[in-house]
Amino acid sequence: MKTRTWIFGAVALLCLALFPVAVTNTYYLHLVETIMIYSILLFGLDIVVGYTGQVSLGHAGLFGIGSYVAGVLFFHLQVPIYFTLPAAILVAAAFGAILALPALRVTGPYLAMVTLAFGTIIQILINEMTFLTEGPMGIRIAKPSIAGYVLDKQQYFWLVAILLVLSLIVVHRILKSHLGRSFEALRDSPIASDCMGVSVYRYKVIAFVISAGFAGLAGGLYAYSEQYISPNTYNFELTILFLLAIIMGGRKTRTGAILGASIIVLLPKMLDDIGTFRVIASTVAIVIAVGAAIAISKGRSTAQRMAIPVVGTILLALFSFWLESVTDWRLSIFGVMILFVVYYLPDGIVGFVRNTFFSTKRAALSVKKRLPEDEAVIAKTERVAGEELLLARGVLMQFGGLKALNQVDLIVRRGTIHGLIGPNGSGKSTMMNVLTGIYVPTAGTVEFANKSLVGLAPAQIAASGVARTFQNVQLFGEMTALENVLVGLHHTFNTGLAGIALRTRRWKDEEAGARARALALLEFVGLEDVAAEEARNLPYGKQRLLEIARALALDPKILLLDEPAAGLTSPDIAELLTIIRKLRDHDLTIILIEHHMDVVMGVCDTVSVLDFGQKIAEGRPAEVQANPKVVEAYLGGAPV
Ligand code: ADP
Ligand code: MG
Repeated sequence: MKTRTWIFGAVALLCLALFPVAVTNTYYLHLVETIMIYSILLFGLDIVVGYTGQVSLGHAGLFGIGSYVAGVLFFHLQVPIYFTLPAAILVAAAFGAILALPALRVTGPYLAMVTLAFGTIIQILINEMTFLTEGPMGIRIAKPSIAGYVLDKQQYFWLVAILLVLSLIVVHRILKSHLGRSFEALRDSPIASDCMGVSVYRYKVIAFVISAGFAGLAGGLYAYSEQYISPNTYNFELTILFLLAIIMGGRKTRTGAILGASIIVLLPKMLDDIGTFRVIASTVAIVIAVGAAIAISKGRSTAQRMAIPVVGTILLALFSFWLESVTDWRLSIFGVMILFVVYYLPDGIVGFVRNTFFSTKRAALSVKKRLPEDEAVIAKTERVAGEELLLARGVLMQFGGLKALNQVDLIVRRGTIHGLIGPNGSGKSTMMNVLTGIYVPTAGTVEFANKSLVGLAPAQIAASGVARTFQNVQLFGEMTALENVLVGLHHTFNTGLAGIALRTRRWKDEEAGARARALALLEFVGLEDVAAEEARNLPYGKQRLLEIARALALDPKILLLDEPAAGLTSPDIAELLTIIRKLRDHDLTIILIEHHMDVVMGVCDTVSVLDFGQKIAEGRPAEVQANPKVVEAYLGGAPV
């Protein structure tokens, strides 16, 4: 960590520790305590919203579960806080699993819908289950005591502060581990994630369960902080507030979560009073107008772009003077704020400040460990001449009436480069999708290393040694080149959640080893210089090479390349050819889909030709090139 981060952290800690000593007013103490509690929840919510890109409308419900687990255990059984808090975490996480397991099986907005229903049901249940929850009457909770010693307001503040810091550390460690990389990867490209052996479904569920656990902890702490809980607190408005906090603060940052929590705690207080609201609205309008004027004069923005925010905030200020009372308009005002932030600050306030004032370049790489001399970057496979590695028989892939693949047989021998060519739309990519489990064939068998692949999930197929690249590049755009390769190395990690949270020796070794491997792989394809660059900022040719490096990280027995030379300039193609030849020297088996005949003819041992979903020719490159059927298929008779 940088010294600046350390100093900043130490100062922040000191402020937190001294706050209850300096500020004795319990009202302010309670406000800051609430901000800390919400921050814990938002750290977790950000894992789901910011990292995996799912929307949860159920976090107020999970927060309520945390509160009520602590409240009910205390009220009925006088269970002490050091049992109620873990119970709150576990029960909320369990509910998270119950919600996520079915909802995330399908893609689309199901999680949002299921969690929305869940939030409503939880509120009704708390209301109705009077025997347990006292219903609308609510539950009073005494200040927590530890070993007979009752914590006062100040000490409870410290307890919350300690748990906030612990949560921050744990969330940070999770997100900076292979787990966090999986969350980010599946958001950027679900299909590539699955094909790198990182099951999208599995890691979405894990993210949601972890997130629910933090909501539970926050809920438990909230119960003791308020000392009174009732069902009305955990309503839909609160869920929206949580999302607003993430969006406004800025996703994928912990500072954003804390800032967001502060906004949602402080803003409603300010909106309670029409006078304050008028002051805030006017100030915002002035700040935006002045800011826009500066931005336009410096050429950073255009009058056109700034017109709506300026006019909008001025109208809001005028509106505030027309209003008699602000309370009825609170939700509408929040709605307008969400729209504003979504349109004008897509990365939230923290993201905006970071993009404007700090350079976006990521920190230099710290890869201390080099790969041991004797460890090869790409494992050399035992060459058994002629052995069949991949066997596809009678593969039929039907899309409605279209037979994209019609009774195709494909036999790929170990250690060879097998070309797959054919005109556009002849079914080449479809074949690749069948082989990697993206599509389940309508009929036919696929065997790989004597095991059937049909019906296996893409992540399982990837784990068994099938790696691929994509015709349309599928990188994890917001992650660096190195991180992209590290996702491919996910299979080298065995440490679980506890090991990650504690940063055990074992996890550190795994991480250091993986980083060294990843860097070696980047060197292999000539990308070591751009290791710290975000994948989406790389030139196209480098993106293609990065995809190959990432695929190699899987330690594949077979590598499927779907038109790797498409869109490349000729120097890039030459580099690609060198890499493919190097791979062949390592006896890696490759299926190569390609349009550039010189590439195909230059490196392939065998070539199969598809046309309208059927295999029309197969053999050595020269034979195939001379085959009249092939000549016919390409350009209706022109020579290939
Ligand atoms: P190519 O040989 O150019 O890679 P493809 O395998 O991408 O060809 O496509 C073969 C045929 O299958 C095309 O006609 C395409 O439109 C069709 N196809 C591919 N995927 C799907 C799908 N998911 N749904 C419907 N049609 C598809
Ligand atoms: Mg294709």
